[in-house]
Amino acid sequence: MSAPEPRPGILDIAPYVSGESGIAGKSRIIKLSSNEGAFGPSPKAMEAYMALAGELHRYPDGGANELRQDLAAHYGLDASRIVCGAGSDEILSLLCYSFAGPGDEVLHSAHGFLMYAISARAAGATPVAAPETNLTADVDALLAAVTDKTRIVFLANPNNPTGTYLSNTEVERLWQGLPENVLLVLDAAYAEFVTNDDYASGSELVDRAKNVVMTRTFSKIHALGGLRLGWGYCPAGIAGVLNRVRGPFNVNGAALATGVAALKDTAFTDMVRDENTKIRDWTVNELRSLGNHGVQVTDSVGNFILVTLPTDRERNAEACDVWLKNHGIIVRRMGGYGLADCVRVSIGRMDEMRTFIHVMGEFFSQPEVAK
Ligand SMILES: *Cc1c(COP(=O)(O)O)cnc(C)c1O
Repeated sequence: MSAPEPRPGILDIAPYVSGESGIAGKSRIIKLSSNEGAFGPSPKAMEAYMALAGELHRYPDGGANELRQDLAAHYGLDASRIVCGAGSDEILSLLCYSFAGPGDEVLHSAHGFLMYAISARAAGATPVAAPETNLTADVDALLAAVTDKTRIVFLANPNNPTGTYLSNTEVERLWQGLPENVLLVLDAAYAEFVTNDDYASGSELVDRAKNVVMTRTFSKIHALGGLRLGWGYCPAGIAGVLNRVRGPFNVNGAALATGVAALKDTAFTDMVRDENTKIRDWTVNELRSLGNHGVQVTDSVGNFILVTLPTDRERNAEACDVWLKNHGIIVRRMGGYGLADCVRVSIGRMDEMRTFIHVMGEFFSQPEVAK
């Protein structure tokens, strides 16, 4: 007798490793490892969450009707083509299960969000990575990697962990170059943070195309990662597919009610965006002034930055990570993304980033250890 075995490929998945949240022996830590909202959720969202405690025996609205209507009004979309999920991760994975399988290819850029390859493998498909240029997705390289087996192209825009983005024109060029039977998924998890004029989240393209889906999340600017709430905006046919394969109550009632309140609190969202821009730009400037040590920082439009460290043993990414941890600061190592020389640093509150910069300054000014 042999034990049950999963489908081929499942055990080849390297499980997703989430950002660490604690350091042994340290009670006060600064967590800059998971791109969570530095300011926490809107107080109005927290109130809505608390108010739901007495309703926990009720099944949630399986159609997420109120939230979908509110999202449609807020962003100018067609509510019937919005599908909500337990995080946008659920939407990404349902798309893989529905549109790709054994023998199919799922394309993403080299340093694209790790869940694309994981979800592709889970569905039995083969993830394919196209090279990037300057840590940015490269439309020509993506198009060159399309084969007759390609079923889905995932583009995080802006991308996590690099923080870089493609302009609306470049996204349009990518779409134009794809065969009509290939699904283009624009993962706009960080769209609300972007202030650049040439950026678009992709919803307008969804309205014109039959093969484009845009995904969004409440985990980042709305700081509700713990509740698991995301959504996709789809052509009608694809919304129909997702509504067939998702669980009937895939989004819990607390997430729905809290999401509705968070979306309405636009003053809070605006505050978070403005503070993030200010604190991120300050942090990047401060880090670049350490540039004579060989530190590089990408131009990020998100709520995190990718920092490339020098390669010498005393100052490399591993040494930096250890140094920061010893000072109570958790960032994210990037080996899993093929960026072993980098750490990703989420943008925290100003006081947290002042401490981070201070500790980084000390890291670079410690005496060199004799080789
Ligand atoms: C965080 C993140 C997500 C997932 O968000 P959830 O809604 O919490 O599942 C998706 N895509 C990218 C690029 C992310 O960084």
